[in-house]
Amino acid sequence: MITISSLSAREVLDSRGNPTIEVDVALSDGAMGRTSVPSGASTGTHEAVELRDSDSSRFGGRGVLRAIENVEQEIAPAIAGRPVFEQAALDSLLIELDGSPDKSRLGANTILGVSVAVAHAAATSNGVPLYSHLKGRDPFTLPVPMFNILNGGKHAEDSTDIQEFMVVPAGFNTFRRAVQAGSEVYHALHRLLRDRGLGTNVGDEGGFAPSGASNREALELVVEAIGAAGYKPGEQCFVALDPAASEFVTSDGAYSLTKENAVLSREQIIELYESWSSEYPIISIEDGLAEDDWGGWNALTQRLGSNVQLVGDDLYTTNPDLIRQGIEQRSSNAVLVKLNQIGTVTETMEAIDVAKKADWGIVISHRSGETEDTTVADLAVGTAAGQIKAGAPARGERTAKYNRLLRIEEELGNEAVFAGRRVYDSFLSRR
Ligand code: PGA
Ligand code: ZN
Repeated sequence: MITISSLSAREVLDSRGNPTIEVDVALSDGAMGRTSVPSGASTGTHEAVELRDSDSSRFGGRGVLRAIENVEQEIAPAIAGRPVFEQAALDSLLIELDGSPDKSRLGANTILGVSVAVAHAAATSNGVPLYSHLKGRDPFTLPVPMFNILNGGKHAEDSTDIQEFMVVPAGFNTFRRAVQAGSEVYHALHRLLRDRGLGTNVGDEGGFAPSGASNREALELVVEAIGAAGYKPGEQCFVALDPAASEFVTSDGAYSLTKENAVLSREQIIELYESWSSEYPIISIEDGLAEDDWGGWNALTQRLGSNVQLVGDDLYTTNPDLIRQGIEQRSSNAVLVKLNQIGTVTETMEAIDVAKKADWGIVISHRSGETEDTTVADLAVGTAAGQIKAGAPARGERTAKYNRLLRIEEELGNEAVFAGRRVYDSFLSRR
């Protein structure tokens, strides 16, 4: 029986230059697993809570020395000697040891670091890649990449209210070809912004952050960039939005778009999405409404859900119970999956499973604060989720995920299936 022999952890830097925890797990057979944990900026209220030192003399209070101490002093003695292949049992033990409802005592970052490092170690010990270790019932599937080429909201000062404008190159036969299209559209957008004097600085996820553009102009620019790169909008390349509306909802439930100089009611913003979706090739809208606006989500789904993928991020925070509630109430038709929102591999797999059974769209996601860790790429292929978002096709922490997927595609050879346009079949057939 192969068991966990030791755990260690350290502070490393994430893409925003903040410290984050990296965990190493060593096994009795000499195998090792390592992961580092990402961090969000537009976090959902119902997310599991990351532990920071709050010691203002280091890293502005964002240090993770307490998390490291928890790994080495508390978690290590509790899981040393336990079998490494029992991920679910280990994750339950971590949850029990933490004892809080939101993983705030030991820290969701602490717990996730251990949980994911264990999965990596188990895969290595088995001599298989992580995507194979995480494989479910469906054949390995390369996800449709959603490239966030224009950044706003909390990820870019002075840019659009809408947090993410993504290009979705679904209309190709291979992942590799989709990556090429994503990169070419990104560069076409760069040229458009430069020629119009809108600025080519980038935001946290590597997408451009034009300071003068309204939300609608940004949308137009992205569609224009698709054409300028030589692709057909609405056939080869689609557009996806993540407004991250919890960030601009007012205390009385209205939606304040500063770049449009408008405060919209829930009904009005739904109408805006409807008109944008009929004018532009929008295939997916994530967090179009705020995280606690369940009534609004139901209305949005009734109105747009047959034509557009509606993805709950802050609404569900990868929590299987909240996803079940969303399925019951028909609050959306898709879910965003972020490991660190819920804090263990097992709960993340459960979230994916619940969504799959409801025939929902599934988007595996990075965070705005990332490292070079590529776990999400393997998770997407192993679970055949169908879609991934990992930022722009630029900046090392973003390209690390896409490059990992390119290597997996090559490794799988003839076995490699690209999810492609069929992910959106039900929406496209109704247009
Ligand atoms: P976050 O943003 O990582 O800052 O939360 C990503 C998202 O909202 O999807
Ligand atoms: Zn989001």
